Amino acid sequence: MNFKALLFFKHVILCCVCVFGDKLTEYVQKSALLRACIDNATHAFIGCVVAEITLHSLKYQVSHQEYCLLLFVALIVSSFIDLDHFIEARSFSLQDATHLDRRPFLHNSAICLATFLLLILAKRFADIKLTLFIAMVFIALSTHHLRDATRRGIWIKSPFQDSNTPALPYAVFLGLVNIIPHVVHHVLTNTFSSKTNAPNMKLVELV
Ligand SMILES: [Zn+2]
Repeated sequence: MNFKALLFFKHVILCCVCVFGDKLTEYVQKSALLRACIDNATHAFIGCVVAEITLHSLKYQVSHQEYCLLLFVALIVSSFIDLDHFIEARSFSLQDATHLDRRPFLHNSAICLATFLLLILAKRFADIKLTLFIAMVFIALSTHHLRDATRRGIWIKSPFQDSNTPALPYAVFLGLVNIIPHVVHHVLTNTFSSKTNAPNMKLVELV
């Protein structure tokens, strides 16, 4: 399968994970725990697929071990973001965590914007491994926030303002979540092209 066909296939998989995960979350109404697990697993899989598309579409890649580790970072961070519900509720109860009267702090999309700025700064000043790590965190945050935004909108809180958009149309979410790997790829490609002469950098061409 050539690269473009494979990339297209991965985007189809990404859309299927989004739609199937959300339909399944809607379908499971009786068990709150099962519903929460499916919802969280969907976040994790979306983050992982977006990370995979991003890393695989790079002309150069890190070692296989680092590649797996980066996918794991995207998967875990995408999932663990929802732990802030429990922290905010100060309770281990799922009932308390899912019935907050405010959005929990890791769902503030100002963090997402700050991480993207950090990624751009890392591109300029940090080493490639740290840049890739930040890229995975950004992917996890942005995909998680966008998916949650289909239900609750995008929340941005800063010392100057506190605003919440209306719920994001599902088609907009699907479009944006498919664009994210290409935005991150663009940033990372500039990183690699500006640092390909750096010593100690072991890059393996896989495609
Ligand atoms: Zn969430």
